[in-house]
Amino acid sequence: MKYVGAHVSASGGVQNAPLNAQGINARAFALFTKNQRQWVAKPLSEQNIEAFKANLHKADIKAEHVLPHDSYLINLGHPEKEALEKSRAAFLDEMQRCELLGLKLLNFHPGSHLNKISEAASLDRVAESVNIALDQTRDVIAVIENTAGQGTNLGYKFEHLAHIINKVEDKTRVGVCLDTCHSFTAGYDLRTIEACDKTFAKFEEIVGFEYLCGMHLNDSKPELGARVDRHESLGKGKIGLECFRYIMNDDRFEEIPMVLETVNPEIWPEEIALLYSMQIT
Ligand SMILES: [Zn+2]
Ligand SMILES: [Zn+2]
Repeated sequence: MKYVGAHVSASGGVQNAPLNAQGINARAFALFTKNQRQWVAKPLSEQNIEAFKANLHKADIKAEHVLPHDSYLINLGHPEKEALEKSRAAFLDEMQRCELLGLKLLNFHPGSHLNKISEAASLDRVAESVNIALDQTRDVIAVIENTAGQGTNLGYKFEHLAHIINKVEDKTRVGVCLDTCHSFTAGYDLRTIEACDKTFAKFEEIVGFEYLCGMHLNDSKPELGARVDRHESLGKGKIGLECFRYIMNDDRFEEIPMVLETVNPEIWPEEIALLYSMQIT
């Protein structure tokens, strides 16, 4: 079974997200559990939590198919001690918010070395940051997202994801989310069946599908290898529809949340319907 949805708004409170997902016929969704551009947020109230769970049930979406995304401010590979501590505290708070909501995954971007330390040293810090957060929480899996490699962002090579996983102590609580736009602009071609075969074989070899916990389904405005992160609606960008047809018909993408972060939320219902229509049953 494929679980497709979108990164929906949680404006007015996290409890609104499942209903927003239901409104676009999503079977999965992503959300921010706090304002993604602020460091501090009000703790979730008992009412927020209860209403979120009730609405999730109402929308008939399982906690396993919700892929929360952490704040853009967090840099778990930060080269400087004070800023790293701040990021680690914020990440722990995000993990705890997920736990309170009964969710199982937390999607995050690995971080940036800011040209102050090596990629390897920064990736080591990310792994250490994950270990610290996992030590203080119980069920939530830390889900590393691959990136476009814009600026000094880490995570644009599958080897970066493997590097972090290797150094995370509890392998049962670390996973990966592949973003199709990020993969493509990082240099992994997805435009044809052959290209998808090759890219996902490489992913299997370097990381392994056993770690795949989610997908971000986005077409790409920039060209292959541009190392720039700009999403596009499905079929309107440089990747094209073949990649999404491939994913919708491949068993390796079963049972995980697959979430649109495409540029026009108005057409999410159509994009979700399009993806399901691609399935050859
Ligand atoms: Zn993404
Ligand atoms: Zn992106």
